[in-house]
Amino acid sequence: MLVIKKLNNIILRRENGRTAQIDHIVVSTFGIFVIETKNYTGYITGNEYGDQWTQNKKFSFQNPIKQNYGHIKALAELLNLPEDMFISIVVFSVDADVKVKTEKHLIYTVQLGRTIRSYKQQRFNMEQVEAFAQLIQDSNVDSQETRKEHVERITQDTRERTHMIERKICPKCQNILVECDGKYGKFLGCSQYPKCRFTFKL
Ligand SMILES: [Zn+2]
Repeated sequence: MLVIKKLNNIILRRENGRTAQIDHIVVSTFGIFVIETKNYTGYITGNEYGDQWTQNKKFSFQNPIKQNYGHIKALAELLNLPEDMFISIVVFSVDADVKVKTEKHLIYTVQLGRTIRSYKQQRFNMEQVEAFAQLIQDSNVDSQETRKEHVERITQDTRERTHMIERKICPKCQNILVECDGKYGKFLGCSQYPKCRFTFKL
């Protein structure tokens, strides 16, 4: 039997002091679904492993697959469970045209129910589902202050990242960035490639 607990807008404090803001969590006997929703419209391009994706090749935003992986790490830490007990689902509105290739669940809103229902292997019992949902709820630090802190931290990270790139320092590994010519034009790449795969389109 499928037992479900739905939780929305959860902010967790990580062991490293940072916060994770999670849109939706579905705790079920078949696993814990961690859902990141994006309301962007237009063409969405990017790479499963890249840091940033772009909307209509102009506006860039954090890769939601990576972002959601951070959410899973926060939940795994909290519930003391291995990461494979969690299922990452990134959901875009039907107004978006998502051009990203990945084996992960990167779906449209209309596919959410079907995606969740495709999991049929029991992983937890009813008591565990109750206990996990309760612990998540009790650990929720959602408040105006933590929301503000979360947004400020992201803004600060983005600013620091931009400063580093401007000074041609790799924001991932702190080595030097070099200008390269690629199929799609000039870009900055990490001098430590292939050990570090950071790139930034110019
Ligand atoms: Zn690097």
